[in-house]
Amino acid sequence: MSFASLGLLPELVTAVTTQGYDKPSPIQQAAIPAILKGRDVMAAAQTGTGKTAGFTLPLLQRLATGPKAGSNQARALILAPTRELAMQVAESVKTYSQHTTLKSTVVYGGVKINPQMQRLRSGTDILIATPGRLLDLADKNAVKLDRLEILVLDEADRMLDMGFINDIHDILKLMPKKRQTLMFSATFSHDVRNLARTLVNNPEEISVSPLNTTATNVEQWICPVDKKQKPYLLGQLLDDNDWQQVLVFCLTKKGTDHLVQFLKEHDIKSSAIHGDKPQSARTRAIEGFKNGSIKVLVATDIAARGIDIDQLPQVINFDLPIVAADYIHRIGRTGRAGASGTAISLVSADEFKQLNNIERLIGYELTRKFIDGFEPDHNLPQSNLTKKIKRPKKPKIKGSPKSGRGKPRAGSSQKTSKKKTRTTAKKKTARSSSSSGRNKNRGQAGKSSKTVGSPAQGRRSRSKTSVRKSQD
Ligand code: ADP
Ligand code: MG
Repeated sequence: MSFASLGLLPELVTAVTTQGYDKPSPIQQAAIPAILKGRDVMAAAQTGTGKTAGFTLPLLQRLATGPKAGSNQARALILAPTRELAMQVAESVKTYSQHTTLKSTVVYGGVKINPQMQRLRSGTDILIATPGRLLDLADKNAVKLDRLEILVLDEADRMLDMGFINDIHDILKLMPKKRQTLMFSATFSHDVRNLARTLVNNPEEISVSPLNTTATNVEQWICPVDKKQKPYLLGQLLDDNDWQQVLVFCLTKKGTDHLVQFLKEHDIKSSAIHGDKPQSARTRAIEGFKNGSIKVLVATDIAARGIDIDQLPQVINFDLPIVAADYIHRIGRTGRAGASGTAISLVSADEFKQLNNIERLIGYELTRKFIDGFEPDHNLPQSNLTKKIKRPKKPKIKGSPKSGRGKPRAGSSQKTSKKKTRTTAKKKTARSSSSSGRNKNRGQAGKSSKTVGSPAQGRRSRSKTSVRKSQD
């Protein structure tokens, strides 16, 4: 099958051929014809499978006809969760549209808003945006979405993880109900499906790989190790292997900075990207990593989301992610578009719960390799892939009145009331986290670069606490 046989215009086919794509990837084969027909689409595919061209090519073709955008208007909107991803999608849109007359513009937070307002004045065919900055621009009447023809939600699952749900609903209010909506995601979580209900209309559902699988051309293994030994083990792995480009994931911004400091002290060229770094430093670090002047890029999940580096051979999880699906996203940074890669996780005993969740999500146990001199003192148990982790049994309450069936009624009502308390507590956390998440997000994309990445980190640390609580 060729790109031309999907019904794409010659100028679009030329653009992808110049990129060296010989044939459409499975997600592209499925999504392009459906989008060309004007259908709403809900698509799930592993990272690195070519989702961007999957929605951009048919979107460009649909925009190729029809009136030009009026001043401050956008005809298509692509929403992305992070600046890095927005920039990257914008670059792809530019590449794929190079032989058309369509104009694209990208806006994201952490940089001055005025130049963006100016660029939007004459209108744009395709606007690529992070949610917070888009709302700020809409507040200033710098962008109007009332004639929007196509909405794309890229990385929908991540958008929800980052607490953008309220922003998305606010953005939806600005656009006409009659439009084409495309939702793309690496995984279809329950929350993504819920969001889809309010967003897409009779969508064509496309899923090109089994749910929640990891990229198959990535070799994965874990190194059990004591927590304190992790930096030294990483140093050893870097010494032993002739890796040229290594992306290392840490859980926290602080952890990221500490690790970079450690690596620099050991003369390893490295740099950190996380939400507290100004945009210019983040862009510089990614550039340096791409051109080879930085060998090790240490990143938090948010900052690394969507970074596409051709042929990135090596990913190391210095810490396991709290959200199991993030493991799939992380290792999706390697083995992209058919290339092969290795993903190594350094796992300490205190991360057993995360490991167990990851292995249950992917459906198998990861191979364990012990590195000489780094065998842990603290044992890392084997995961249990089938049974739920047992909670301690609640004590039965004696002397309760019996129900008609001879069951202890008060016992069960006690259960219910306990359950209620738990649910209420959960709801409270969810509410407070979503509202503060939203404010922070607005801040992230809009005003200050300081809070970038913090919503998800915040949510994560909150969820960490709640995980702990439910274990107690
Ligand atoms: P995703 O959004 O699914 O994670 P991307 O759209 O970022 O994936 O694409 C991943 C990589 O694959 C990019 O480097 C892109 O240039 C490349 N790519 C996309 N489509 C094709 C194709 N049909 N053939 C070869 N490479 C492709
Ligand atoms: Mg993508």
